[in-house]
Amino acid sequence: MELSKSALLRDLPSVDAVLKSGVAKPLFERFGRVAVTDAIRGVLAETRATLKSGTSRLPSTEELVALAQARLADDDRSTLRPLFNLTGTVLHTNLGRALIAEAAIEAAVEAMRDPVTLEFDLAGGKRGERDDHIRGLLCELTGAEDATVVNNNAAAVLLALNTLACGREAIVSRGELIEIGGAFRMPDIMARAGAKLVEVGTTNRTHAKDYRAALSAATGVILKVHTSNYRILGFTSEVGAPELAEIASAANVPLLNDLGSGSLIDLSAFGMQREPTVHEAVAEGADIVTFSGDKLLGGPQAGFIVGKRELITAINRNPMKRALRVDKIRLAAIEATLKLYRDPDRLVERLPTLRLLARTRADIEAQALRILPAVQSAVGPDFVVGPCECQSQIGSGALPLDTVDSAGIAIRPQSGGTALERLTAALRSLPRPVIGRLDDGALILDLRCLTDEAEFLSVLATLDHGISA
Ligand SMILES: *Cc1c(COP(=O)(O)O)cnc(C)c1O
Repeated sequence: MELSKSALLRDLPSVDAVLKSGVAKPLFERFGRVAVTDAIRGVLAETRATLKSGTSRLPSTEELVALAQARLADDDRSTLRPLFNLTGTVLHTNLGRALIAEAAIEAAVEAMRDPVTLEFDLAGGKRGERDDHIRGLLCELTGAEDATVVNNNAAAVLLALNTLACGREAIVSRGELIEIGGAFRMPDIMARAGAKLVEVGTTNRTHAKDYRAALSAATGVILKVHTSNYRILGFTSEVGAPELAEIASAANVPLLNDLGSGSLIDLSAFGMQREPTVHEAVAEGADIVTFSGDKLLGGPQAGFIVGKRELITAINRNPMKRALRVDKIRLAAIEATLKLYRDPDRLVERLPTLRLLARTRADIEAQALRILPAVQSAVGPDFVVGPCECQSQIGSGALPLDTVDSAGIAIRPQSGGTALERLTAALRSLPRPVIGRLDDGALILDLRCLTDEAEFLSVLATLDHGISA
């Protein structure tokens, strides 16, 4: 026994022998010599260990190379992987929020491939400004005097607060001291912006007199924050933006309105609750309005700052702006996305976020019934698969209480145990992972965001039937 084991170990080829055998040659082209050598070394070490434990036979060189190839391919796969978002949350922050419109993708690719007029004024042959590519569009779409863009809305709020209230006081209602997921807490952002937080009112009620009483020579800004991810209901009172604008203007203090999602169009046309548009927030008298690029707007991650010219000028002069600016790739995608808003009639067709949000329950239900048999056959007989009604969420702190009628597929295990966990794990390990939502002992696949049905079915067909064992 010991003898045959050491004979097998002796016959195991060296790294050099495998490399020279010619079998590994096709791998060099794809992965490079260094990585291939490493992978073969790893496979040989593993094989040596299993041979020592006496449980295996000597693999052929072809088998060793195949193992190395599997390792290399696994290592080569991106960890940032496309997946099917069947969670029912359209703008899912953990899944990358808005999907980018084709026009914006093309613009971004072009900007990546070639030198561009990022900060170059073609007419004058002089240095230009990167904001020039979007300033006009943002002013046109929001009615603001001036506009700029930074990395995201958190950066927009940080930069605006730092510019308007560093070393000064920022007044905000206790009902609006929000925490957005991912460590965006208004009091912390204020502290980092160098502004002293002055809370007014109570959690449920804040009045105009509270703001007025808090004003002083040290006031740098009055801040209004859209309560993106919660609502205070019941015995409540808040001061609306128009009245706040009057209070701010009388005290000669700027009003900053952080809209969060901030839509450029009225979404009630698409069956959603009315949410104030950026245009309205500007018209209501806010001196500065901030909002995200990748929430309802449906573009790439970005933070827009629009408002009074002299304030935007001050914001642009803040050295922090340079640290928060966006690159040419995103700028190109933002410009192309904003341009789509010039033709509202075709927006649903062209902007994926809106297209997904506008899908009717009837349309999604029909899709659920169509793919139901394929889903049942993929998950096997240990699960009961049926159609179900769903309520999709918009996500990313847009209209937190407002859901959209949707439909999907509910998958229930015939018996308890770990069947459901095994199923969700198997779906996550598909070449293109499928992410659903667990609800009351069932896996729910909300089909609102399922656009590539053919791809979904072909990926699903590769589901390992081991899960139904
Ligand atoms: C989402 C949100 C933010 C943060 O915006 P990001 O684009 O995620 O940085 C800030 N304020 C409000 C009110 C929000 O809804």
